[in-house]
Amino acid sequence: MLDNLTQRMARVVKTLRGEARLTEANMQDMLREVRLALLEADVALPVVRDFIAKIRDKALGEEVVGSLTPGQALVAVVQRELTALMGGDYDGQAAPLNLSVSPPAIILMAGLQGAGKTTTVGKLARLLRETQKKKVLTVSCDVYRPAAIAQLKTVTEQVGAEFFPSTPDQTPLDIARGAVDWAKRHFHDVLIVDTAGRLGIDEAMMQEITALNQALRPAETLFVVDAMLGQDAINTAKAFNEALPLTGVVLTKLDGDSRGGAALSVRHVTGKPIKFVGVGEKLDGLEVFHPDRMASRILG
Ligand code: GDP
Repeated sequence: MLDNLTQRMARVVKTLRGEARLTEANMQDMLREVRLALLEADVALPVVRDFIAKIRDKALGEEVVGSLTPGQALVAVVQRELTALMGGDYDGQAAPLNLSVSPPAIILMAGLQGAGKTTTVGKLARLLRETQKKKVLTVSCDVYRPAAIAQLKTVTEQVGAEFFPSTPDQTPLDIARGAVDWAKRHFHDVLIVDTAGRLGIDEAMMQEITALNQALRPAETLFVVDAMLGQDAINTAKAFNEALPLTGVVLTKLDGDSRGGAALSVRHVTGKPIKFVGVGEKLDGLEVFHPDRMASRILG
């Protein structure tokens, strides 16, 4: 089993006991260990580089107080900065969904095929119904895969929300407009719009979801990304962030054995808060994101 970061750092700094401050010289070997830990967690390389540079600046001159070793002092700085970076402005809490608009509050889901969008729509509908007593309508604009529409219908019914039917011969825009109209007339608080995902980024797909976003003006545009993507998460996140005014991220499949480095990569390239994490295939497997827990997971 891999040692955790504190143990690894302790090994490289054995000779430094008694040093009062973190310096360029005494941090060098330890920063290499931090770098390795981040790469092992599948954080994308450019993100690792930026983060290490930031840590070096922040930690320089930091006092090694009490019984701490320089290694422990540096781990504390890394943990603090990683948490701050991922928690953004919300004091260690996940950023809340902003649904305070005149109803229906529209949530648009974006992401590659297989990322977990449809499952997450079901999970979100369940969460909003159970914790906030919201009346939720869901709709699928995936006109390329009839199975995707059927899948959304199933998960929506499983959580007791309402499903707005659509068919592959309609356009995504017509479907979405029809759903908004229905939601208004039937007093739904929230409309969650599922979209088509492709296996890779492609221009037509981006144009389609950009047009949907412009027409719907959603309260939330959530980018759904698979935590198992590892290094590739950065390119996907970049493409979606450039095409859409994202308001948040859902990181799925964290119940797998991924160390969660994608969280740091996605946060770094989009600057958008991670709002939820998917922790299972079942529809109760959605949790509010905890930056501090994610920092610990990434550091190992
Ligand atoms: P979509 O193509 O983006 O709509 O993705 P789906 O919602 O169809 O999900 C793709 C696969 O990932 C399905 O087998 C889901 O059960 C699975 N999945 C989605 N979210 C999670 C999660 O948080 N954990 C696990 N283990 N599986 C998930």
